[in-house]
Amino acid sequence: SQPVHIVGAGLAGSEAAWQVANSGVRVVLHEMRPQRMTEAHRTDGCAELVCSNSFRSDDAANNAVGLLHAEMRRLGSLIMRSADANQVPAGGALAVDRDGFSAAVTKALHEHPNIELSREEVAGLPPADWSNVIVATGPLTSAPLADAIRQLTDESALAFFDAIAPIVHRDSIDMSVAWFQSRYDKVGPGGTGADYINCPMTKEQYDAFVTALREGEKVDFKEWETNTPYFDGCLPVEVMAERGHETLRHGPMKPVGLTNPHNPTVKPYAIVQLRQDNKLGTLYNIVGFQTKLKHGAQQRVFHTIPGLGQAEFARLGGLHRNTFLNSPKLLDAQLRLRAQPRLRFAGQMTGCEGYVESASVGLIAGLCAAADARGASLTPPPATTALGALLGHITGGHIETIEQGPRSFQPMNINFGLFPPLASPPTKKPDGSRLRGNEKTVAKKQAISARALADLDHWIAEHLRVAAAA
Ligand code: FAD
Repeated sequence: SQPVHIVGAGLAGSEAAWQVANSGVRVVLHEMRPQRMTEAHRTDGCAELVCSNSFRSDDAANNAVGLLHAEMRRLGSLIMRSADANQVPAGGALAVDRDGFSAAVTKALHEHPNIELSREEVAGLPPADWSNVIVATGPLTSAPLADAIRQLTDESALAFFDAIAPIVHRDSIDMSVAWFQSRYDKVGPGGTGADYINCPMTKEQYDAFVTALREGEKVDFKEWETNTPYFDGCLPVEVMAERGHETLRHGPMKPVGLTNPHNPTVKPYAIVQLRQDNKLGTLYNIVGFQTKLKHGAQQRVFHTIPGLGQAEFARLGGLHRNTFLNSPKLLDAQLRLRAQPRLRFAGQMTGCEGYVESASVGLIAGLCAAADARGASLTPPPATTALGALLGHITGGHIETIEQGPRSFQPMNINFGLFPPLASPPTKKPDGSRLRGNEKTVAKKQAISARALADLDHWIAEHLRVAAAA
C-alpha cells in the first residue's frame, strides 16, 4: 500500500510519523534541514526546540498543558517519552535537555522499520501521486511551499504575522464594574445586541493607562522579524499609545454608543471592549490590544483596567512572524484540507501554539492518516479531552463575528477555557464543607481533568483498540 508522506520532522511531524508507523503503516518523513535551514533552527535534529527548553507544567490535575502531557503519554507519544527520558530539574515544569531530547526522537525515528527519513525540501505542493500527506512544516515553513499553499487556499488565508491580543477567562471579569453591550446595541448575525463586555475608564485612569503602556517594557523584535511591516489595523496597542495621547480613545477605546448601566449618568472617558473568543463563551479577547509588551508588563498594565483587576489570562498578547491556516474555514474535523483532502495539516500551521500542542495535533493527524491508509475513518477524541478541546479550537470551536469574519482565528495554547463547562461544577469539599473563593477554581480544574482522562480512556477503548484490531 501507499506510504503516508509527512513533510517536516519538527514537533508535529515527528510525532505523526511515530503514530503512523506504530499503526503498521509505512511513512516517508521529508525534512529539509540541514540542506535548507529556517531562521530559528540551528541543527539537523528532528523535533529541535527553537527557543525555550520547557514543555511547561507537568501537573495533569491542575494545569491544561499538564493534562495534555498525560493524554499524550496514554497514547504512546514519542515526544513525551523522549522528554521524560531527558528531563532536567525545573520545579513543577517538564523541561528537557534539548540536544538529548532531539537526539532521542531522531534515533527512534531512524530505527523504526516503517519509517524512511528523506532529507529534502518539498519545494511546492506535494506531488499529486502522494495520496495521503501530512504537512507539518511549522511557523517557519519554507517560502515555495508556503506560496503553493497560499495559492491553493486563497490570498488571505495563510497569515504571516501573528497579531495576538490577550485572552481573558470570562468568569474572572468583575461584572459589577463591566457590562454586556454592543456598540449602539447593534444586532449582528447570531448576536443579541449585547455581545461585548465593556470596561469603563475615567480621564485619570485613561491618562495613567496610556503612560503605563508607553513606559512598559517591550520585547525586542528578532532580527529576521524587523523587515516585516505591521499589518494595517493590527498595530500594537503600545505603538498606538506612542502615536498620540488620544489615539486609543479614537481607536479601540472609543467611548461612543455605549451606556454604563452601573452609572448611567456619567459618560466614561474611554472604554475597553472584550469580544467573545470561543463558542462556549468562556473566553474573551481584549479588542485591539495586540501587543509586544513583555508578559510581566502586560499583567501589570492590563490589571489596571476597571473590571479586569482580578482577570485571569488564558493567553497574553504577542506579535511575531508565523504561518498558519485559517483552519476553521479550510480544514475538516479530521484536519484535511477541504479543497484537497489528500493534504492533512498538523502542528503550528493548524493554529495551535507551542511545542506540546503542536506535537499533540501531530499525534491526532498521525492516527487519522493511519486510519485512512487502512481504509477506515477515525472518530476524533471527544471535546471533553485536552486533545479534543484543542482540535475543537482548530477545526470549528471559534466564533465568527460580523466585523472580523473567520480571520479572527488566532493561534492558541491549550487552556481550560477551551473545554465544555462541567454539567455540575463542584461546590463542596470531600468532607462536605463549602468550597470558597479560589478553592472553587481549583476544584473545577481538577474535575475537568478527571473527566478528560476518563473520557480519553473510553475513547481509546472504543475507537483505537477496534481500529488496531481491524
Ligand atoms: P517545527 O517544530 O518548526 O517543525 C517544522 C519542520 O518542518 C522543521 O523541521 C522545518 O525544517 C521543516 N520544514 C519547513 N518547511 C519545509 C519544507 N518545505 N520541506 C521540508 N521540511 C520543511 N513554542 C514553545 O512551546 N516554546 C517556545 O519557547 C517557543 N519559541 C518559539 C520561538 C520562535 C522563534 C518560533 C518561530 C516559534 C516558537 N515556539 C515556541 C513555537 C514552536 O516553534 C512551535 O510551537 C513548534 O516548534 C511547532 O511545531 P511544528 O512541528 O509545527 O513546527
